[in-house]
Amino acid sequence: SNKPNIVILGAGYGGMITAARLQKSTASKDANVTLVNKNDYHYQTTWLHEPAAGTMHHDKTRMDISKVLDLSKINFVQDTVVEIKAEEKKVVLGTMELDYDYLVIGLGAVPETFGIPGVKEHAFGITNVDSVRQIKDHIDYQFATYSQMDEKHDEMLTIVVAGAGFTGVEFVGELTERVPELCKEYDIPREKVKLVSVEAAPTVLPGFDEELVEYAMNLLESRGVEFKINMPIKEVRADGVLLNDDTMLKSNTVVWTTGVRGNPVVENSGFEAMRGRIKVEKDLRAPGYEDIFVIGDCSLIINEETERPFPPTAQIAIQQAYTCANNLKALIEGKKELEVFNPEIKGTVASLGGNEAIGVVGSRKLYGNSASVMKKMIDNRYLYLLGGVPLVMKKGKLKFY
Ligand code: FAD
Repeated sequence: SNKPNIVILGAGYGGMITAARLQKSTASKDANVTLVNKNDYHYQTTWLHEPAAGTMHHDKTRMDISKVLDLSKINFVQDTVVEIKAEEKKVVLGTMELDYDYLVIGLGAVPETFGIPGVKEHAFGITNVDSVRQIKDHIDYQFATYSQMDEKHDEMLTIVVAGAGFTGVEFVGELTERVPELCKEYDIPREKVKLVSVEAAPTVLPGFDEELVEYAMNLLESRGVEFKINMPIKEVRADGVLLNDDTMLKSNTVVWTTGVRGNPVVENSGFEAMRGRIKVEKDLRAPGYEDIFVIGDCSLIINEETERPFPPTAQIAIQQAYTCANNLKALIEGKKELEVFNPEIKGTVASLGGNEAIGVVGSRKLYGNSASVMKKMIDNRYLYLLGGVPLVMKKGKLKFY
């Protein structure tokens, strides 16, 4: 047909909401909308610390794309994006190529290694459904093997979490819930297990409210987490991490959570990027490209109050998707005026395991159970935006205790 082709890369928060918004609007009739994703399912990146620790089954975080989107209105292609050829208006996939008139890049992020040796080879990442299944299975295997050995190797029971930003803290919080269960299952005394959170910066959760950081640290320490703050990691090795003070912290399990960079497809396709993220125009287009929108963790937007980039979040990815869908619809209708993206940061809540969390919502500080309830409401709200009440009922966090 001579309808324009809209191609959306990545079915994460940004890509899924863009597709869902286009599906609801006339744009899905006036254009051919194609969504490309590696898997035939969408997953909740913000929940991945839970299946990584084994406190939630990984299936709870994912859903079939065909059950959320109407695939008679949106074409779905399951494939891996290899390269974007912007000059030719083409996308190279693993098994085919796609032509586009308008492109949306929503391929998410990968772990930032800062070039530290051994990270890629010896550390795990909380990145996607399969990477977190690998972490959970690996930890289970360490406990199972330890229980079978005559000569005990304690590094099997030492878990190092590199980076105490949001993801690292949320993950170590889940581990404090999971470890007692594992100890019980395998008859291992709890004091044999070491959970070590290593952070290069002078504080845990840099940039977060100090009072809440203190609450989080006290809680996690009381649950057996050992913090090594101000302690950069020099190298990751097969048998643990080499710390800045040249001591070796022996561990069979190193999980790398020191922040992210944009999907490497962006840089490999020749776009100018900062840590893999394209600094987008106000209407979310890539500078110099009238036909390419970039949303979510592949995009970079500046917080005008602080003059620093906003940290990449699902919150921003979802809001960008609304603007992106509106702007695509406008372009399809031949309009020249596009909507300007204005992020509205509603707050941030980090879970600490079980019914514990900390957060700032508006100007309110929350901690303990009230923060945890808020966290679950945020998670459910996203499901509501994507698939209405039925999806909340099916995949939501409905136990509030
Ligand atoms: P994603 O949602 O990550 O999706 C990217 C999609 O692209 C995936 O479906 C992936 O399979 C697909 N893909 C990747 N590469 C390819 C390829 N080459 N070909 C085809 N498909 C590909 N943010 C918050 O706002 N609040 C939180 O509480 C919060 N907690 C977090 C907790 C954890 C443990 C983590 C890891 C992140 C958290 N974040 C949170 C950040 C948030 O998850 C990200 O900012 C968000 O997922 C970005 O959305 P996105 O649409 O850019 O990418």
